Amino acid sequence: MLIVQKFGGSSLADPERLRRAAGISLEARRRGNRVVTVVSAAGDSTDELLERARALTRHPDPRELDALAATGEQQSAALMAICIQSLGGKARSLTGWQAGILSDPRHGDARICLVVPARIEQALAAGEIAVVTGFQAVSPQGEITTLGRGGSDTSAVALAAALGAERCEIYTDVDGIYTADPRLVPGAKLLEQIDFRDMLALAEAGSQVLHPRSVALAEANGTEIRLLSSFRPGPGSVVRNLAEQERPPIAGVTRDAEKSVVTAVGRAVGPDMLEHLEEVLKENGIVPLRGEAGGGRLQIQVAPDRLLPALALTHRSIFEA
Ligand code: ASP
Ligand code: MG
Repeated sequence: MLIVQKFGGSSLADPERLRRAAGISLEARRRGNRVVTVVSAAGDSTDELLERARALTRHPDPRELDALAATGEQQSAALMAICIQSLGGKARSLTGWQAGILSDPRHGDARICLVVPARIEQALAAGEIAVVTGFQAVSPQGEITTLGRGGSDTSAVALAAALGAERCEIYTDVDGIYTADPRLVPGAKLLEQIDFRDMLALAEAGSQVLHPRSVALAEANGTEIRLLSSFRPGPGSVVRNLAEQERPPIAGVTRDAEKSVVTAVGRAVGPDMLEHLEEVLKENGIVPLRGEAGGGRLQIQVAPDRLLPALALTHRSIFEA
């Protein structure tokens, strides 16, 4: 079986974590699978790189910003290959352009338009784990582009689709997709599975578990995404097409810190629920500033300092009642 595994920055933040991630890919390889490992930049290194440019000028050239930001993933890929080799495996690192990931020329927000994975296939045929940089691509003009913050998920899904992978596994520091971010809402429950549409709506409303474009791309290609923890073994969550009767009435809640908006997502979410939630918030001293419902989601804006209590309250009234 062909497996694409993607590791996020926190899964690569130090040598011990890197070794753990390398061990996961190596284990999949040793079970006889062909493995493509997609890596993000380690820890907060993308932020640090961008800050270094902004310390020089308020308006860095977008082309050079991409050239700079892409180095984070390149370091991760080389280090991952070195780490796999040190553990006795065979691996080869490939940058976006080496891997044949082609995008439009929009610096900082490029879209993948084509994958020509000849060198990945070469590496796989040689029995190597192909370690590919996430987040970056190359434009028709031969320029390095990046796919927008969090874009490594999209790289992984695009590769899985292009290679016809049987599995696309995204490893992160949470053990799956929850009804709300468990770090903010302790009562949040792990979802065994979630429909593409609900996941996309959550991702677009501020849930940072998966990059929105990766979910849209996975849905378009019918690529199931499995979200797993690189720290704790477990079943994780699967994002896929669910039949209507499998789809829960409400999938989850999330918040957008910038807009100070709480969103609930699911097939049964509508105006009645909005009215009810606005009542619950008011009873608890939170003034809903603006609310709207439709298309499988409802959104309530509150004052920024009420956002987290509003999120917890919304979750409690939907899932913990
Ligand atoms: N390193 C990039 C970022 O921090 C891409 C990613 O992590 O997916 O946004
Ligand atoms: Mg991410």
